[in-house]
Amino acid sequence: MDNKISNPRKTSDIIKKHQFSFKKSLGQNFLIDENILKKIVSSADLSPYSGVIEIGPGAGALTQFLADEADKVVAFEIDQRLKPILAETLKDKDNVKVYYEDILKADLKKIIEMEFPDNNDIMVVANLPYYVTTPILMKLLTEKLPIRGIVVMIQKEVADRLEAEPCEKSYGSLSIAVQYLSDPKVVMTVPKTVFVPQPNVDSSVIRLNIRKQKKVDVEDEDFFFKVVRASFAQRRKTLMNNLLNNLFTKDKKEALIKALSVINIDPKRRGETLSIEEFAKLSDALIKLR
Ligand code: SAM
Repeated sequence: MDNKISNPRKTSDIIKKHQFSFKKSLGQNFLIDENILKKIVSSADLSPYSGVIEIGPGAGALTQFLADEADKVVAFEIDQRLKPILAETLKDKDNVKVYYEDILKADLKKIIEMEFPDNNDIMVVANLPYYVTTPILMKLLTEKLPIRGIVVMIQKEVADRLEAEPCEKSYGSLSIAVQYLSDPKVVMTVPKTVFVPQPNVDSSVIRLNIRKQKKVDVEDEDFFFKVVRASFAQRRKTLMNNLLNNLFTKDKKEALIKALSVINIDPKRRGETLSIEEFAKLSDALIKLR
């Protein structure tokens, strides 16, 4: 028998039965729309050989669909109160394992090695808790995990930042970090009405294909990210002022002007006008001024 919980009545029944109360502080907005859940799963291009990491299974609505498509699902749920609910909704799914822990503290590399020794196609799929979207994405992208990609529901405003191009309002250090490491695409925007309780913001499903090769070559990745962060520290300031206030001491001003002129970047430009390629050039040119 199909015990899918992905509709408003079934979700409400199981929540009442277990006297579960939603915690806003944990970003608990559960999906109650089967079409959206199916679309998230189909966007991940899973096969019966795929391994899936899910973050925040909640009551298990997405987990149920993932378990039908993949070889194995490993989920991370911070809220122990969901144990009896997940025990019920996933009782027929013997290819699902739930770790009751904070994803941000999990040693993902080790867990992937342990849980997916035979899967060479691993995807992260989730309806993310919005209060920690950025740290979770940065963890997944920077820990050099053996994953093919990430399909996640996030706030529309953050999704726009991930995809943004130079000079767009939402272009910033997050856009650059994410585009340097992956190729982000918005799959669809989603209305508030498909969640219970409804969040205050609109949402988007985004797919990040991990790049085998970074988008640009840089001599020192950590320094590249420092240059990017410094350049966006105060959006209305020029590149020159931001670099002098946030990365170098004032006595480097002349050297900075010279370095920028060699690579043909006007010091009066704002960080938000530079492409990733220009930031790479900039970071390589500034290395010797450190
Ligand atoms: N997947 C379910 C769905 O789509 O209906 C629930 C998604 S809900 C937006 C986010 C889930 O993430 C909640 O179950 C919440 O308890 C869990 N969560 C919040 N912070 C977490 C963290 N740091 N690590 C793991 N899970 C977390």
